[in-house]
Amino acid sequence: MDDSRDPKALFDETAAQGGCGPLARSMAAGPYGLKQQVYEAVRAFGNVSRADLAKHLDVSPASVTTIVSDLISHGFLKEYQAAKREQHRGRPPVALALEPRAGYVLGMKLSDAKHSAVIVDLTGDVIAEAALDAPPRRRDVETLMAQIDDVVARVLTAAEIRLEDLTAIGIGLPGGVDHTAGRVVWSPILDTQNIELRALAEKRYGRPVTIDNDTNLMAMAELWFGEGRRMANFAVVTIEHGVGMGVVIDHAIFRGSHGLGMELGHIKVQLDGALCRCGQRGCLEAYIADYALVREASIALDWTPSSSDANHVLLESLFDQAKAGNEAARTIFRRAGRYLAVGLATVVNLFDPALIILSGERMRFDYLYADDVLAEMRGLSLNGKLAPPVQINAWGDMVWARGAAALGLEKATTLLLEAE
Ligand SMILES: [Zn+2]
Repeated sequence: MDDSRDPKALFDETAAQGGCGPLARSMAAGPYGLKQQVYEAVRAFGNVSRADLAKHLDVSPASVTTIVSDLISHGFLKEYQAAKREQHRGRPPVALALEPRAGYVLGMKLSDAKHSAVIVDLTGDVIAEAALDAPPRRRDVETLMAQIDDVVARVLTAAEIRLEDLTAIGIGLPGGVDHTAGRVVWSPILDTQNIELRALAEKRYGRPVTIDNDTNLMAMAELWFGEGRRMANFAVVTIEHGVGMGVVIDHAIFRGSHGLGMELGHIKVQLDGALCRCGQRGCLEAYIADYALVREASIALDWTPSSSDANHVLLESLFDQAKAGNEAARTIFRRAGRYLAVGLATVVNLFDPALIILSGERMRFDYLYADDVLAEMRGLSLNGKLAPPVQINAWGDMVWARGAAALGLEKATTLLLEAE
């Protein structure tokens, strides 16, 4: 074995033939049984021979064979016949793969004006999608639960499966979410605080549920299906109505003590500065969120926006003006870009991530990742030459729900293998 390799790495990443899930085990997850290690390695590989499994897990071929037989007899793994051309490339004729339909997971992202959901099989493949537009206002718990009912019904119908077929449900929403306790401490889409959402949903649907902050869904999506699979440390910064961040440390999401950390949008970039929607002053968000840009534009361009115009409509118009060469509009965006650079440099200085992924609806506004913004980020980083690359995620809207599904898959894996 090559000693220079990350000792926790499941396998040489170049050997991965598809598959999903992190390519290395997180120490934070505690000790794994060999059965779970085998299952997760097969999932991460896509397909793999028994001999390679034993080699990569550093255990005897005999113990792998015993566990594999057990997992096959319970319908979790299956034999996989490698295609002729794969055999020509030196792949063994018979490999192992996950039995995709041994369970299903529902992933759901709740947000202000739209809820979206996917159902995936155990290999992470999306079977069905559904979405529901909801009136964009704070709602009480009963209203939210009724909306969740609606989305669940829609996506189950689209997938042609029943509620009982689900092994787990993953739900993400904006705000402070205590993943461990299953509690929504606060959320901009709810009119009450400290909601025991996990317990409520488990009682309602009779299925195991796991919940998280929505930005962590984006980090989960990267960790399970994206670039983050092969990275120990990275950060995902989302710019939507507000600014969020998910941080992966040692192949696992970092959640803090109460799920309330990583509020990049509310780091202070100016003492006694602009008023933020959180009620405090000088937050990063108060300089780069859509409402902040619209606020500035209404002063600089002497706008008197009618209340019927949503912020995003005004923002589009401002962006069009900047592109057309309006100097005042350009200055507003340039300034916002500089503030974003301050925020990103803070992330670099605190976490030294291998990669920063910028993601979200606002990524179509290219001023946010213009060359001079990234140059400024490097300039403000203490070790600017080692500042990480910044990647723009062009994934579609359903990526949030897929991240929620990854959250559910994590839970489903343990449940399935324990129950057997
Ligand atoms: Zn704030």
